[in-house]
Amino acid sequence: MVKRIFGWSAFILLLLLLFGLIFLPGIAERSMNKVVGTSQTATPAARALHARLIIADLHGDSLLWQRNILDRSQQGQIDLPRLRDGHVALQILSSVSQTPWGQNYQSNDDSDILWLLTMFQRQPMSSWFSPLGRTLWHGEKLRGAAALSHGQLRQILTVADLDRLLADRAAGRDVTGALFSVEGLQNLEGRFENLDTLYRAGVRMAGFTHFFDNALAGSMHGRQKRGLTPLGRRVLREMERRGMIVDIAHCSHACTADILAMATKPVVFSHGGVQATCRENRNLSDDEIRGVARTGGVIGIGLWSGAVCGTDPVYTVRAMRHVRDLVGIDHVALGSDFDGAVTTGYDSAHLNLLTQALMDGGFTDEDIAKIMGGNVIRVLRAALPAR
Ligand SMILES: [Zn+2]
Repeated sequence: MVKRIFGWSAFILLLLLLFGLIFLPGIAERSMNKVVGTSQTATPAARALHARLIIADLHGDSLLWQRNILDRSQQGQIDLPRLRDGHVALQILSSVSQTPWGQNYQSNDDSDILWLLTMFQRQPMSSWFSPLGRTLWHGEKLRGAAALSHGQLRQILTVADLDRLLADRAAGRDVTGALFSVEGLQNLEGRFENLDTLYRAGVRMAGFTHFFDNALAGSMHGRQKRGLTPLGRRVLREMERRGMIVDIAHCSHACTADILAMATKPVVFSHGGVQATCRENRNLSDDEIRGVARTGGVIGIGLWSGAVCGTDPVYTVRAMRHVRDLVGIDHVALGSDFDGAVTTGYDSAHLNLLTQALMDGGFTDEDIAKIMGGNVIRVLRAALPAR
């Protein structure tokens, strides 16, 4: 009898495991990265302007999921075919390396549920329990995709790469750039030396924290929400020396203040919104916006409700207008957070809806060109290694 119950339990467990391996990754992504649509359509004039722009998006999390980003997908918000449809020149793709249980914007501990996804997605064992291992796997996925793309997806590591990408696109070549970033430096696993490992894996931009406090700094959504630790200060100096861009998205107010006081290169806020138009505990105060502008950096405005309090493009434009009015057009940028467990009104193929909404909002063609990518290109040129 005992033997038979044991046998049945093992059988049911095996069935559950099989179900998880086959269906869970897709279910997880479909439930987390939704596109709900908007009432907008792009006019011929907006389409024409959009096709002339150099578009750069500061933040997407597509590497977290099991999909091959070279293939067009019915789920999520970014893949190479949709980036091409959306006329995107450069997509910054981030590595999410640790996610706490019950993740929320207010207060999280440093627990981890990502091991479940990594196992069910059949990732290498080195990525199951190690934040660094997960980032290295994401870096490998990006390199692998670029290698198999027949020259259509190119990883950007230096200013020379960026210039070549833009020259090739200007000459009519069908190529999209991708720059690798990380969301939270918990993947250093407390060791300064691992910054070199990240650099060699192609990381050129890093947010110091994600949803919880780590060894470098406090998160806006952490328990303590403290400023930079001595390790955080050392890493910031080394990042600037190497040409890795510092991102304050998700950093606590104390962390943001410390970074803005220390920075000697342009600092970015890769994805989020502003308190003035959306009072959510992830958005920047006016003082913080001024601080980013003083470094010559940019503020990447998102497309989802947690950032701008709505999924229609008019909400994104409202936040962009606030940044422009406060510190000038040179500091406004796009930070979609596509594929980052967000619900959006449109995917990367339909970014011309944002161009339309900016035109409707009275922004000039020159302003729109800066917001949609010109400003990000300027920051990358100022901060990336020359070659
Ligand atoms: Zn994020």
